[in-house]
Amino acid sequence: MKSGMLAAEAAFGVLQDGSNMESYWEKLKKSWVWEELRKARNYRPAFDYGLIPGLAISALEHYILRGRAPVTLRHGKPDHEAMDPAKLHSPIQYSKPDGVLSFDVPTSLYRSNTNHEHDQPPHLHLRDPTIPELVNMPEYAGPETRYCPARVYEYVPDEKGQLKLHINAQNCLHCKACDIKDPKQNIEWTVPEGGGGPGYSVM
Ligand code: SF4
Repeated sequence: MKSGMLAAEAAFGVLQDGSNMESYWEKLKKSWVWEELRKARNYRPAFDYGLIPGLAISALEHYILRGRAPVTLRHGKPDHEAMDPAKLHSPIQYSKPDGVLSFDVPTSLYRSNTNHEHDQPPHLHLRDPTIPELVNMPEYAGPETRYCPARVYEYVPDEKGQLKLHINAQNCLHCKACDIKDPKQNIEWTVPEGGGGPGYSVM
């Protein structure tokens, strides 16, 4: 959220004085966001070397080096290539929302203050409209219905009973998980109309 505010401030500066968006990077590098991300940059890729080496490297980073490691470890492969076929796993039974700390999707969406004009052009597109039914559902059990936090993607039976992907773009929270995670990189996320999307307040 802080990085979003920094981007907004930098964009405002560009509009006001004609500078360029490099000021965003300068502000970001001087902020606590950069410091925090830099300290944590090697935690996840360390586990590409296995559980024990991952724990050892993470502990070294966390307790001793604290972001001063001379190298930045790389992830082995992009997220969308890390998805396994559904047949290799059992479905996860998630506990129901308790209404105190966890909430159902409609309640969470309402609280996110998401607000799109109902007639704005859709900002989510499928590069190949056949991939969801030919690949995503049979091979990966429709992962977009689970990783999307806003239930934007639903498989709905058509008049012949065939499951078809339905996209509720107006619910999108702009997290871009679908852009990153779709196994065939078939979802094209474009910038939505300005002024919409989730809102937040600064206390
Ligand atoms: S950007 Fe996030 S909220 Fe929007 S459709 Fe993709 S996964 Fe869902």
